[in-house]
Amino acid sequence: MDSKYYVTKRCKKCENQDRFYLTKKEKAFELFDLSRIRDTPCTNCYSKEYLSIGGDLIELDKELFLEWAFDLNLQFMEQDEDLLIAEKKYIDIILDLIDNYEILNEKKIVLIEALCTIVYDNLKNQENKGRLERQMLIDNVVYELRKRREQVFDVRASIFGYIKDVVFPLIKVDKE
Ligand SMILES: [Zn+2]
Repeated sequence: MDSKYYVTKRCKKCENQDRFYLTKKEKAFELFDLSRIRDTPCTNCYSKEYLSIGGDLIELDKELFLEWAFDLNLQFMEQDEDLLIAEKKYIDIILDLIDNYEILNEKKIVLIEALCTIVYDNLKNQENKGRLERQMLIDNVVYELRKRREQVFDVRASIFGYIKDVVFPLIKVDKE
């Protein structure tokens, strides 16, 4: 199978890299069998010892977001899911899902948390480079969150306190 979705396993003995091809869904939701990959010998030297198993992060699309938003069993990554999607490039999809679909409440929490995280991370970034772009991004997301204050308020109990402390005053949502 030739696909742009794969994980790479690097052999410890000869440093050969083998690719294990996946479907988009397997890659996005980590639905592959890690032990099978671990147990597959290097195609070059037949050793099973490896240095690393990994790969590039997948570019998410609306199709993947929709599947995820209606299925509690699907996670984009085992950890840090909210960090993965807290990206400028996903804001439009996130808002679309919040506004136009009856998605699972658990997923809505992750999406709103991701938006708050974008604001938080960009506020905390003190680098001079890109300051204007960051401020525009903050203003934009704050504006979108303010329009959805009731929905943010509904999930307030699930948002991290340190994020609430910084972001909620900006969007005029009560923390309690
Ligand atoms: Zn090898």
